[in-house]
Amino acid sequence: MRSKVPPDLSRMNRAVFEALDHDQLVELTCRLHAVATDLAERLAMNSTNSSRPPSSDPPFGKGGGVAAGSGDAGVTAGVGSSTPPVRSRKPPQPSGRKPGKQPGAKGKWRDEPLKAERTERLWPCTCDGCGMPLEMWDKEVRTGAAFCVLELERTSGGIRIACVEHRYQVVACTCGHETEAHPATGVLSFLDGRKRQLHLTERCMVAPSLAAFIAALHIRHHQSRRKIREFLLTWMGVPLSVGSIDRCIREVGVACEPIVEDLLEEVRASGIIHADETPWYQGILNCWLWVVLTATTAVFHIGSRRHEEIRDLLGDAIIGWLVTDGYGAYRDYQRRQRCIAHLIRKGLALAGSLSPDGIQFGEWLVRELRGLIHAVAEDQGHTIINPIQARMKRACKLHRDHETEKIRALAREILNDWAAIVAFVRNPYLPATNNEAERALRIAVIARRLSFGTRTQEGSAAYAACLSVVETCRRRHVDPWSHIAETLARARAGFMHNPIPAAV
Ligand SMILES: [Zn+2]
Repeated sequence: MRSKVPPDLSRMNRAVFEALDHDQLVELTCRLHAVATDLAERLAMNSTNSSRPPSSDPPFGKGGGVAAGSGDAGVTAGVGSSTPPVRSRKPPQPSGRKPGKQPGAKGKWRDEPLKAERTERLWPCTCDGCGMPLEMWDKEVRTGAAFCVLELERTSGGIRIACVEHRYQVVACTCGHETEAHPATGVLSFLDGRKRQLHLTERCMVAPSLAAFIAALHIRHHQSRRKIREFLLTWMGVPLSVGSIDRCIREVGVACEPIVEDLLEEVRASGIIHADETPWYQGILNCWLWVVLTATTAVFHIGSRRHEEIRDLLGDAIIGWLVTDGYGAYRDYQRRQRCIAHLIRKGLALAGSLSPDGIQFGEWLVRELRGLIHAVAEDQGHTIINPIQARMKRACKLHRDHETEKIRALAREILNDWAAIVAFVRNPYLPATNNEAERALRIAVIARRLSFGTRTQEGSAAYAACLSVVETCRRRHVDPWSHIAETLARARAGFMHNPIPAAV
């Protein structure tokens, strides 16, 4: 190793290289080689070969070297990489063993049965024999089915879990027929190849109120199923298995799904729609989580990154304006505002680069973009706003054939999308940034880093539906968890529709 001092890249250009003699060139090449090797090694670091956490691994780079995209929300599609191929460890071969309890493993049961603190009797409504409604005074013959249900109750001091015995009564009609009340059954969520399908029914140990609480801990507070089990046992004294907790989360998702179609209709009819997307894992598939939202409604969707996904969500013709990042899927929509914050970040990246021209252009562009946002927000006249736009357009035209690739790319990007970048100037009610959608996506980004996404299509649809309902309720000042508990109760009874009330 001749020298460990890194060369000053910002002062190098073709003229400097041409002025060097042979020995100096060899020396410089060796130093540059050392820098390149160091960077390549650092680029190849991931959770399998360094002390970095798995959450720092690139979303689409699992065992495959360099990621195709980077960052969370608003990455540009298909960014090519000029880095050398990185050798990474081969992903381990799948063992073929399914996750969870293995066939033949010893089962686990509750150590002691639940003790009910009170009973609740339920009666049949009509006679199975003659079809007439049963009355209060008809004789109760006996109790049919009976089981314990864990219900979450709100008290003056907080919450508690009550164990209530539900007794389904047998009633004798005046016609002589005896009719037994039964727990209702709701929707069946079918997944091909699954041993036991998810069937929503009232015959369930966890009441909708407690199931909504478990879903809140999981979705809103990012707790794993095992941590929820520990929490319920330690703080509430309620032993529940991981399987029961998982079932509650999936039931809530299935119950929320029918609401989403209504929400989509409301989004499509809105004046301003924000849209954004972020990487998502579904088992071994690399998916994308999309969000489209308005002031009072949010819809999340997990699917591919194809252009059709946003078309399926929003339809071909929306009447309002679409506020987005620079991703190409949105470019088919004419009435569009491009997020200025993304361009400012690109300008800042250029300002922090090693190219002197890049620094100058980046700093100038950031100043002008901020100035434009400020001028529009302050409602300043055309004498200030128009010259800013003219200067920006002229500067981009001057730089669109610049020798430095990053400068060239940014200048062309601005020119190609010019109408969408300055749409907010002529429509002052349009927001200049897409921060609203990015904030809504944060919860999913954190969940992805903690839990590595979902496993099945059913799980993805359920998670997206839950997020949609929770975020919409929050935007409408409706308590999401009461609404979800009510929705689940209705879904278990076979009624699938429970729309969210309009904003108060
Ligand atoms: Zn009868």
